[in-house]
Amino acid sequence: MLESALYIVPTPIGNLDDITLRAIEVLKNATLIAAEDTRHSKILLDKLGVLNPKMISCHDHNEEQRASIIIEEVNKGGIVALISDAGSPLINDPGYKVVTLCSKANVKVIPLPGPCALITALEASALPTDKFMFNGFFPVKEKELVETIESLKGVDYTAVFYEAPRRILNTMEKVAQILPEHDVTLCREMTKTFESFYRLKAKDAPAFLEADPDRTKGEFVVAIGALKEDQGVISPQIVDALKTLVQTTPVKVACNVVANLTGLKKNELYNLALELKEKN
Ligand code: SAM
Repeated sequence: MLESALYIVPTPIGNLDDITLRAIEVLKNATLIAAEDTRHSKILLDKLGVLNPKMISCHDHNEEQRASIIIEEVNKGGIVALISDAGSPLINDPGYKVVTLCSKANVKVIPLPGPCALITALEASALPTDKFMFNGFFPVKEKELVETIESLKGVDYTAVFYEAPRRILNTMEKVAQILPEHDVTLCREMTKTFESFYRLKAKDAPAFLEADPDRTKGEFVVAIGALKEDQGVISPQIVDALKTLVQTTPVKVACNVVANLTGLKKNELYNLALELKEKN
């Protein structure tokens, strides 16, 4: 028997089997379901066998008004489920105001764990997960987009963003220009048929996306790794060593020697070695 409360219920981000048993139980027993888009969620509820649910819409433009209906429903012993179109409500989705107003009114709020694109992406990103920052969608305006990406220079955490398919190429072009040596993971269509994880250096991402139109299709989460101390930064001592070597040995050989001694990648050294040779 479920207790009377507002339940935050995550729904699948692609694969319907990702709905949890607890989510189904809450949805089947809910006396009221508050959904971001009732028509959209009705399709899922039908598939789950939630028949004739009493539903109200709850989106960015009517949350405050919906909160009073939800509070009233719980106060009279009801079970209210809050759902969004996909994934976890409140994570770049409506629900924040409802939860705040319910808490203020001493209405019990019970969150259910479940699908969330942010966490799913982070787990598969192969980037550090011990410290991360979720930023919602990348800004749409060019100036803010550039400022946001600039602000990631020198940070020590993994930055995670949502992005729309029509903007992914432009956004990754900016990331490539501003943070070329950062590791990035583009998490595309997670839990769906064309699920893909593209783990690349930021500077390689635009060409990679352009090489195949399918690579820019679908839903995206972008994770940007912090620059490791030794990544892309070649110390003055190594530059000196390379400079000395290129005076007497071919560029390729000089790069091989320095790469073997330092663990740096040969291709990271190559352009620098050419420059040093020309300056000699
Ligand atoms: N609340 C949702 C959650 O918990 O994942 C996110 C809602 S937000 C409005 C929708 C965005 O999440 C999409 O535009 C995309 O960036 C990301 N997203 C959602 N599902 C995804 C999936 N299956 N694969 C990749 N990204 C996804």
